[in-house]
Amino acid sequence: MDLAVPPRRTQSFSRVLDVDSFSRPRSQRHLLVVGSGPSAKWVRFLCPCGCGSVLALNLMKSYLPRWTMMRDPKNRLTVHPSVHSTTCGAHFFIRSNRVEWCSPATPSR
Ligand SMILES: [Zn+2]
Repeated sequence: MDLAVPPRRTQSFSRVLDVDSFSRPRSQRHLLVVGSGPSAKWVRFLCPCGCGSVLALNLMKSYLPRWTMMRDPKNRLTVHPSVHSTTCGAHFFIRSNRVEWCSPATPSR
């Protein structure tokens, strides 16, 4: 692993897609909502840090941890609270499809 090369971080998601199965996201810029409307169960997406792992956020009240998802009229997603990946350590908020990183970006030289 070459730590001198910063991973490519996604700054925003471009699309929100409704899916009804656990399909793997095809693009790092897609947010997949599993189950539509009020019965949405999961939000799945490729980690925006570029590590390639798939993150799944639970929306169901019967399971913990649980996230709250809001969709605006332009079909942009806001997720609360922040997402902290246990595999790569990425920590960020998703607000109106924008990725707001909690940790500073790797400084460029
Ligand atoms: Zn990652």
